[in-house]
Amino acid sequence: MIRPAELIQRKRDGEELPDDELAELILGYARGEVPDYQMAAFCMAVFFRGLSPRETYVLTDAMIRSGETIDMGAALGRKVVDKHSTGGVGDKTSISVAPIVAACGVPMGKMSGRGLGHTGGTLDKLESVPGYRTELSLDEFIAQVRDVGTAIVGQTGDLVPADKLLYGLRDVTATVDQLSLIAASIMSKKLAAGAQAIVLDVKVGNGAFMRTVEDARRLAETMIALGQQAGRDVVCLLTDMDQPLGAAVGNSLEIVEALETVRGRGPADFTELVMDACGKLLALSDLGIDEAEGRRRAEAAVADGSAEAMWRRWLEAQGGTADESALPKAPLVREVRAPRAGHVWDVVAIRVGNAAVHLGAGRRTKEDSIDHAVGIVCHAKRGAEVREGDVLAEVHARTDEGADTAVREVLTAYEITDEAPRERPVLLEVVD
Ligand code: URA
Repeated sequence: MIRPAELIQRKRDGEELPDDELAELILGYARGEVPDYQMAAFCMAVFFRGLSPRETYVLTDAMIRSGETIDMGAALGRKVVDKHSTGGVGDKTSISVAPIVAACGVPMGKMSGRGLGHTGGTLDKLESVPGYRTELSLDEFIAQVRDVGTAIVGQTGDLVPADKLLYGLRDVTATVDQLSLIAASIMSKKLAAGAQAIVLDVKVGNGAFMRTVEDARRLAETMIALGQQAGRDVVCLLTDMDQPLGAAVGNSLEIVEALETVRGRGPADFTELVMDACGKLLALSDLGIDEAEGRRRAEAAVADGSAEAMWRRWLEAQGGTADESALPKAPLVREVRAPRAGHVWDVVAIRVGNAAVHLGAGRRTKEDSIDHAVGIVCHAKRGAEVREGDVLAEVHARTDEGADTAVREVLTAYEITDEAPRERPVLLEVVD
């Protein structure tokens, strides 16, 4: 029998917890025997004190053991790849990558999460597609990856239930941005879902949970170590999250942009990252090709329409409509105009992310529902030259009041200077 209050106190005081007690705390929480308030206090103690590599491994392992696991390789008789992002603003990468990779003949099964804090969640975005079912049973999930080529689902009750609970709790108790908690959360899902090769997109910048390249590198190394302990190939891309990725921020707006990218008409920075991720995933797959060839095949799948055909097959297989005119639209669209001429020095991602949450695109409490139609489209990105009065961004809102507030907030995200900023690629570093 563990005493949660005692474990909270020991962690608060900086102790390394014994394997069995830490594991039992997590498993007890998943069984509903440890209440949210004690787990919230525990997460806060971890936030300040951290976890040792050993504790991070034990936490990840206990989270995996809280539910079922899948052996995707055995179920499909071939290597399955997966990708995950640590979360950012406008990050719809997986939604474009999955159909492109599947169109290249590589199965990609993915379990995604909901929005956390100011970052949007893949599942919330996909739920703006009318009819799309995020909750497939494990058998349905495997069958769809085998028969269609790809599936993106939520964490079913059976897979890593401990993370499902913890994720929601951390979101509303300011305990998301802790390295070990993020690593365990992501890797427990990736390992339980059974892909043999995993590409992780570790976001770095003001709109990410990791603010510096050094912290992002540490998170990458922690996740790679957890993957290696489980015998998986893991590659981490450290990518820029100082400004939103692409133009669209907000659920259905991001679905439209993801589709445009699958059609070859996406924004340059987003397309670059999608192709980087596809190249890496195809190189890690069982096709036996290198990254340059993987990228070439991904570009070909976009150019010849097979990626878009896969998009349609995938959404329809999961009950959704692939017709973009069915996506929810906000009743009001307001423009955000440049207050002066100059160069866009910065579009502060966290401010855009927060403005989207305030519009209703994200949650403020665990119980909040999401408005899938609202959001922001950032037309001018870092480096753009603008004249006074040019449209910098568009706000898609439900109410006049919401629109006014968002316009003000988005304006504070734009820094316009006389000098042009240095060009910065989306991909900052690869850790493997
Ligand atoms: N993404 C996850 O899946 N978990 C986290 O804790 C943060 C981002």
